[in-house]
Amino acid sequence: MRILVVEDDAPLAEVLRRGLVEDGYATDVVGKLADAMHAVDTNDYDLVVLDRGLPDGDGRDLCARMRSNGDGTAVLMLTARDGLGDKVEGLDAGADDYLTKPFDYPELTARMRALLRRPTSAQAPILIHGTLEMDPASRRVSRSSITIPLTAREFSLLEMMMRAPEATHARTDLLEHVWDANYDGLSNVVDVHIANLRRKLELSGQDDPIETVRGVGYRLRPQSTS
Ligand code: CA
Repeated sequence: MRILVVEDDAPLAEVLRRGLVEDGYATDVVGKLADAMHAVDTNDYDLVVLDRGLPDGDGRDLCARMRSNGDGTAVLMLTARDGLGDKVEGLDAGADDYLTKPFDYPELTARMRALLRRPTSAQAPILIHGTLEMDPASRRVSRSSITIPLTAREFSLLEMMMRAPEATHARTDLLEHVWDANYDGLSNVVDVHIANLRRKLELSGQDDPIETVRGVGYRLRPQSTS
């Protein structure tokens, strides 16, 4: 098992490195976002322990970039803040779990073991609807084999629809599942994101796969079974 630790707090990074090496993990440590981006591009990790507050940026950006590149490596995000918003943002960016600082080393390794036991993306089912394909594990979406980069929320909206392709999804259901419970922003936020999603899915020159159900919400356009 090879682990990347992205942590700019040098004493903490050293504690983690020593502990993980002692526990038998091959462990690389970097302290900057740029070095972390280079490391994940160059090496094949089983898990990334990712601090959010880095001197040259937000760890969340690394996670989002990995997911948009189709990299499904487990990410355990560390955050110094314990606000719900920070956790939601981390998970939206594609993190698999988060741990709030300060934490005990045994809790970190317990969470790591849980993530490493997770089925790999190769075993996870691919969702297919017509020419549209979604791999929930790597968070990759493609249409006729052309990869379509989506934001975390666009992905979540499409995932809800692809997991229940026959159903009509009410705006309120989509809002509840994709935004956190305390969301009190614009009421048309679902429509705005669906419009962006449609625009991206149509870029490949194909039909709009999403139908508007007037007064209710959205569903996937039924596929002919011929
Ligand atoms: Ca930090």
